[in-house]
Amino acid sequence: MIYKRSSALFVEAEQVIPGGVNSPVRAFKAVGGTPIFVKEAKGAYLYDEDGNTLIDYIASWGPMILGHAHEPVINAVIEKAKKGTSFGMPTEIETKIAELAVSMVPNIDKIRFVNSGTEACMSAVRLARGYTKKEKIIKFAGCYHGHSDSFLIQAGSGAVTFGSPNSPGVTKGTAKDTLLATYNDLDNVKALIEANKDEIACIILEPVAGNMGCIPPKPGFLEGLRMLCDTNNILLVFDEVMTGFRLAKGGAQELLGIDADIVCFGKVIGGGLPVGAFAARNEIMNHLAPLGPVYQAGTLSGNPLAMAAGLAMLKELNSDDVFESLNKKTQYLHEGLARVLKANNVNHTINRLGSMISVHFCEEEVVDFETSAKGNNDTFKKFFHGMLNEGVYIAPSAFESWFLNDALSYEDLDKTIEACDKVSKTL
Ligand SMILES: *Cc1c(COP(=O)(O)O)cnc(C)c1O
Repeated sequence: MIYKRSSALFVEAEQVIPGGVNSPVRAFKAVGGTPIFVKEAKGAYLYDEDGNTLIDYIASWGPMILGHAHEPVINAVIEKAKKGTSFGMPTEIETKIAELAVSMVPNIDKIRFVNSGTEACMSAVRLARGYTKKEKIIKFAGCYHGHSDSFLIQAGSGAVTFGSPNSPGVTKGTAKDTLLATYNDLDNVKALIEANKDEIACIILEPVAGNMGCIPPKPGFLEGLRMLCDTNNILLVFDEVMTGFRLAKGGAQELLGIDADIVCFGKVIGGGLPVGAFAARNEIMNHLAPLGPVYQAGTLSGNPLAMAAGLAMLKELNSDDVFESLNKKTQYLHEGLARVLKANNVNHTINRLGSMISVHFCEEEVVDFETSAKGNNDTFKKFFHGMLNEGVYIAPSAFESWFLNDALSYEDLDKTIEACDKVSKTL
């Protein structure tokens, strides 16, 4: 494949945008090479600036669950745009999408819309702190909750001590309120709670991790967290920015049968426009301004274009059929990839839940950040570029899942499996 124009555009972008990108993972730093500039997309395909066609397994990191430029979503945005794009006043469509979201997701009465997943998680934690009147939070290594200060934390010295900043600009003061736990390790969480008695406002996690590959919760893990939260007056916050409206109509809460106290959304809920949201039962949500004392606001929150896209998307997803279809396709891909990787003697572990799937180049089970990091990154780099050369676009990092979209045909999946077969022989 030729990437002449993408390369030229990247050089130009680098002059005026740090690293040439507006979000770091787009820059191909983990895999090397030049990022591909996309010109347009339709259904399961990306069309780049050099005229290449790629089968897309990222779906804009999740949102395009029905494929790109999905007609009902696009039309809703066009019609709305003709009537004005922002008012800073309430609009009826905000209530419509809120009503629909509340009807689809278990255990929530009210929802507040924001502009990104980052904002949703940041606001959820503030709400949890305001509600419980406690200050510390527990997060898990390898779970991503956006780039607000409280979440850019790595393990400090010793597992039961404070976290430390993992980005310059995050203060030690902020870091000391975030405790870092190991995913799928209930005893570790118990020890943290024990060592910080009556100080923990919430435990926040991806109920199915999607930012260190796809890592499903072990049986009993979420149930155990729920119980620990109940007995210690801690709120359980599910960051469903990735899993919400992807794993099921009601997200991971529905699929796995666990109730969270606060749920965060993003990605799919905006239908491809910048939207996030957080939701909870009345007793918690009523603590938010203007009803309660916990402040949270946004000039463009509930923006009519964003709400039109989100509402059209949620309407499309308000049936179990699409999730069943996605599930079957992903299972088919899973079996095909496993078959050819095995036939070519490539060490691998494939994790999957619903339409989230990840290929790890290691043999042992991948259950947390540490085991995910054991994957062979050189093999991944070769695999990534090999697949790209075959016209298959997967995330340019071994720590990302693939996110399937329902526009993918079985023929696309077969092509992908064939590509994997071909590339496997070179690894
Ligand atoms: C993408 C993501 C976020 C951040 O959302 P942005 O819209 O990028 O700010 C937060 N949490 C999870 C689980 C995500 O996957």
